[in-house]
Amino acid sequence: MELKKGVILAFSAPSGAGKTTIVRSILAEFPELLFSVSATTRKKRHNEKNGVDYFFITEDEFKNKIDHNEFVEWEKVYDYYYGTLKSYINDNINNGKSVILEIDVKGALEVKNIYPEAVLIFITPPSFDELVKRLTNRQTEDEDDLKKRIERAKMELSLKNKFDYVIENNELDKAVSDAKSLIEKIIHKGER
Ligand code: 5GP
Repeated sequence: MELKKGVILAFSAPSGAGKTTIVRSILAEFPELLFSVSATTRKKRHNEKNGVDYFFITEDEFKNKIDHNEFVEWEKVYDYYYGTLKSYINDNINNGKSVILEIDVKGALEVKNIYPEAVLIFITPPSFDELVKRLTNRQTEDEDDLKKRIERAKMELSLKNKFDYVIENNELDKAVSDAKSLIEKIIHKGER
């Protein structure tokens, strides 16, 4: 009997919408889901581990991987390169394992082009103004970076209707529980 392929679940959201927290809660609840570790040229943050959060590589190494066709998709986001590794996705889904991707909006749409069976989930803030407020309040970016994130958020929000599911993060606990019920339906009940 042929092994059933794993599912690709791609989560996207504008910066500050709570995507990372939601994805972490899902990974804790569903240990059978594997997190797709992307490659990036951005610097490692103090709480991150190479090979766990990302493969941190140089721009030359990244370009070499592009030339060798090693990415499913790659994007330049806020001055750095980010890419989903083909080998990671294919090895796992062909072995029946489902993978979760946390990638930018354009990357997710590109994944859908290549794997039409992938499920795309968009985490949206209740409003654009609320997003700007959250980003400003968290004070993790300098002014220039903040501006870039806000500009990019406009583009990202304009593409949310292209996603299979949209989860609103107005209240974090509710958004986490909505996301968990959705994943439960997709991976255990086969809903798409
Ligand atoms: P951060 O630097 O905050 O970890 O990520 C910045 C943005 O890049 C986020 O929207 C994140 O989801 C996205 N990202 C991370 N990995 C990938 C990837 O492999 N491909 C694409 N297209 N975007 C990614």
